[in-house]
Amino acid sequence: MPVPTPKAHVCMPARDDLSSNPPAPSQHSEPQPSLEELLDTRHDPAYGEAVQVARLVQRVTAANASPFTFAGTGTYIVGGRRVAVIDPGPDDAGHTEALLRALEGRTVTHICITHTHSDHSPASRALAEATGAPVLGFGPHPAADAGRDSARGSAVQEEPGDWDFAPDGVLGHGDVVAGDGWTLECLHTPGHISNHLCFALPEERALFTGDHVMGWSSTIIPPPDGNLGDYLRSLELLVARGDRDGVYWPTHGPAITAPNRYARALLAHRHRRTDQILACLRDGPSTIPAMVARMYTTTPEVLHPAAALSVLAHLIHLAEEGKVTRDPTADMRAATYALA
Ligand SMILES: [Zn+2]
Repeated sequence: MPVPTPKAHVCMPARDDLSSNPPAPSQHSEPQPSLEELLDTRHDPAYGEAVQVARLVQRVTAANASPFTFAGTGTYIVGGRRVAVIDPGPDDAGHTEALLRALEGRTVTHICITHTHSDHSPASRALAEATGAPVLGFGPHPAADAGRDSARGSAVQEEPGDWDFAPDGVLGHGDVVAGDGWTLECLHTPGHISNHLCFALPEERALFTGDHVMGWSSTIIPPPDGNLGDYLRSLELLVARGDRDGVYWPTHGPAITAPNRYARALLAHRHRRTDQILACLRDGPSTIPAMVARMYTTTPEVLHPAAALSVLAHLIHLAEEGKVTRDPTADMRAATYALA
């Protein structure tokens, strides 16, 4: 039976889109539901239990609920007697114990990591030690992220990096991890973070989407390693897969059961935000705080730093496209922006 989502999340807006302002007119609008209509926060985490979500897939959720992790990290177990584990989760003894309980009598042959944020990869060390299985991922935490964790002080709009992550084996786009009755195909999906992978499980027509695509919220794109242009291309990669994926399983929150439509809504949502920012620059607001004040009028001020981060990611992307310039003498966060 579904239980209410944790209290902290009941009123939590999408992480990047904190605005309930009416949408600005968009040249990109399509006859499809908006992201806001498709977001789904109904989810029973069943903490510590191994929940069978498909014939080949179980999920054990860690009790690390937060504004970034929603109800917590969902660790997936793929296979029957010989299994892969995707995203063992945070450094949390209770979760590792629950995971090892769920794995009793089975052999872990691979530990696969979607990306190196502290709610996804740190438990790979304890799990590898307990099982002897190799840890596989795109690579170490990106150097471009250096200083980000400390620079933002106590700001809570981002996930800390797992700087100790050192995979036993490296996975790249197109690589295949083959196991006993299951196959995981790797898709490199940078954007949220440059080392992000999604894993397709063709035996279930499923895609494990990590934090790239989540059903309860759009993802956060924290510059400089997080990159909106990469993120849009990574979304287009998923859209182009058509009906190869019948379901997405994100690391946080519920399954996405109409995945292609959802990925297209995420794209439309970002294009709409881009249009709003261009409209700001046409009409006057030219700094990030001024744009946030104009676009996020119904958002509590405490969430404005997260909104500012999203606007910054969009401005960097618009500058990369040659559509926007900024005062080069100022820090990106404090700069004045203009249409190119
Ligand atoms: Zn993440």
